[in-house]
Amino acid sequence: MEGSRALALGPWAEALEVVPAPEVAAELLARRAEGGSVRSVWVTDLVDLRPAYWRSTAPVTPSPERRALMEAGRETHVRVGHVLAAARYREVRLQREGITGQIDLFEDRPTELKTTRLTGLDEPDRAVRSSYLDQLAMYCALADRDAGRLVLVDPAAEPPAVAVYDLRVRDLGAVWDAMRERAGALRTALERRSPAGLPGCPWRGRGCEFEAAEVCDCRGSEPPPATPLVTLLDPPKADPGAASSLAARLATPTGPLPPARRFRDLVYLRRAYFERVEPVDEPAGAPAARPAPGDDLYRTLSDLLESGPTGEMTREPTEDGEPLESVACFRGDPLLLRVSKAWSATPRDDLLKGQPQYFLELALRCAALGRTAGWLVLGYARAASWEEKVYLYRVRFGRPETLAPLLDERLRALRDAVERRSPYDLPACPGWMYESCPYRSRCECAGLASDGRSNR
Ligand code: SF4
Repeated sequence: MEGSRALALGPWAEALEVVPAPEVAAELLARRAEGGSVRSVWVTDLVDLRPAYWRSTAPVTPSPERRALMEAGRETHVRVGHVLAAARYREVRLQREGITGQIDLFEDRPTELKTTRLTGLDEPDRAVRSSYLDQLAMYCALADRDAGRLVLVDPAAEPPAVAVYDLRVRDLGAVWDAMRERAGALRTALERRSPAGLPGCPWRGRGCEFEAAEVCDCRGSEPPPATPLVTLLDPPKADPGAASSLAARLATPTGPLPPARRFRDLVYLRRAYFERVEPVDEPAGAPAARPAPGDDLYRTLSDLLESGPTGEMTREPTEDGEPLESVACFRGDPLLLRVSKAWSATPRDDLLKGQPQYFLELALRCAALGRTAGWLVLGYARAASWEEKVYLYRVRFGRPETLAPLLDERLRALRDAVERRSPYDLPACPGWMYESCPYRSRCECAGLASDGRSNR
């Protein structure tokens, strides 16, 4: 791949069919017209509504320490998840009435993993924060299970320290009612662009990133949530046997995490190399990038896709866990949703040449699940009418036998580059990524990435 561009078409793109599916697009638009889609809200947002409001309206760049903690937490999640459960039970996404939860592990009961400090505490139970219990109780309500499990891991301890608690929710219906109420309050606040009426922020004065960045206007006198969920739960019960067995499994050395975390990493291989090997830190505390025009359409289309019958949208883990990201599937096949800022839709016959990245990513997703066809949903944020905003295509790969080698080749190329600590055999990203790329001074790609297309 030396000297090539990331998006060069290969055998996988031969005989590819792109078939418009206007009837499916019309179904999505009908859901919108019927008001079937409400703004989706994540369970994690329902735990603390004010920070969720500010995250959405005035995001701030995390400090390097916070970013490092978040990254370490993510990696621990992945490692513990791999030890605890098969891929199909990890990161299980559930959705009901516009409330979405991604449960860390869900086999017989929702299980929430948290990384936290466990060693040196006078009372280990103090590590069980009420926010952890709230989140787990909400997953239980979403999954309609009255039992859940909380797994706390201190990855800084050597060997890793683990605590396990079992939780029973006494009144699932009351938890669900409280969730709907909180989701309604957050939606209203976001529509009005005002957090007035949301409960007080428990992080005020305790390291709240929005307070530190002076973007929030909380006073500290706001009332707490109307229904504290803890009143609907039995006290959590420690399970020391489960904790020591998990600690023993975690103490067994494992290899490093695979460098390919997302499918996007395999589309833009050089960028992924730098993100894994030489990540850059942005200045902390500054307002983070505001949602770009088109983000709202992305969200609306996601909500419309998610608001169909149960099982229409699923997330399937990759067979061997690489990339780590699971694959969103619509009606059984991989789906790729993208929103363009172009003023009008690209004609169907020009799509492959104009936006090869869409097809490459969909090909990789299909390869990871052993499928030969997928769905491409394109939104055009600047189009005048809804009919002109949404296009849906069935994409069939004409030479399915080329898909698995495509995935293998890209996985191997990224792994090899990371092992050798050299990105220069990887294809350069397309030209439109160069200008805003934080790695361009190190990457030396300017001569290669010269296709100045603006379509993403
Ligand atoms: S400098 Fe260019 S090739 Fe290198 S990572 Fe950035 S966009 Fe990709």
